[in-house]
Amino acid sequence: MSKVIAITNQKGGVGKTTTSVNLSAALALEKNKVLLVDMDPQANATQGIGIDRNMIEHTTYEVLIDQVTIDKIIVHSNVENLDVAPASIDLAGVEVQLSNVRSGREQRLKKAMANIRDNYDYIIIDCPPSLSLLNTNALAASDSVLIPVQCEYYALEGLTQLLNTILLTQSVFNKDLTIEGVLLTMLDSRTNLGVEVSQEVRKYFKEKVYETVIPRNIKLSEAPSAGLSIFDYDPSSAGAKAYAKLAREVVNRNA
Ligand code: ADP
Ligand code: MG
Repeated sequence: MSKVIAITNQKGGVGKTTTSVNLSAALALEKNKVLLVDMDPQANATQGIGIDRNMIEHTTYEVLIDQVTIDKIIVHSNVENLDVAPASIDLAGVEVQLSNVRSGREQRLKKAMANIRDNYDYIIIDCPPSLSLLNTNALAASDSVLIPVQCEYYALEGLTQLLNTILLTQSVFNKDLTIEGVLLTMLDSRTNLGVEVSQEVRKYFKEKVYETVIPRNIKLSEAPSAGLSIFDYDPSSAGAKAYAKLAREVVNRNA
């Protein structure tokens, strides 16, 4: 059985893409067949895992406008067991292009993935920083959502809105959608703030919060420019250890 997990939070810069790429790589290293689906027009996940722009013929954009089937866009990454459904800036136009479509436009990704789902153990969807049609497509296509929360002031701000979106998606498009987990990211252990914020988040989300906390780690921010996951960039880094631990928690929750 495959599991589809959307990495979502409408706030930008909270670690969605970093988590999408490195959780995908960690799961693939543990011998799971993984597909990373890029639903962000910024295509940071696509580039971050080293998919060369010039090598991409088709992207999730063409899938969403029904021009090609998803199997036509999937490419192998340099990580064994990790495939990628790449994105491009064209994705930004989907909302406008589908504005006249009356029915089913929120379900396009789900429909597109139906035939390939079973080829994978995990499908990880990197979501854009907005509550848009792209995000709705991701949530409608997913079994669960993983919410990265940055350990900073106002961490919880906006989460009520996100939870409302999840509830709305449940009631209209996807009644089985669950919360996979809440991930504390970019913890700076030298400050009390991070500790306070993580306590606050744990009080709110309780056992949904992963034991693993992703530390602020320079290697995690450098790896994308090399087009590498943290495991190929610096496997001994604190970031690599944290994402490997997160992957084990994700697998255990789904065992
Ligand atoms: P989002 O996808 O939510 O916008 P990103 O994953 O792109 O967030 O992260 C935002 C920025 O922070 C990026 O430059 C990224 O490299 C950096 N970053 C993410 N996680 C960490 C971390 N744990 N430590 C240091 N830098 C990080
Ligand atoms: Mg991102």
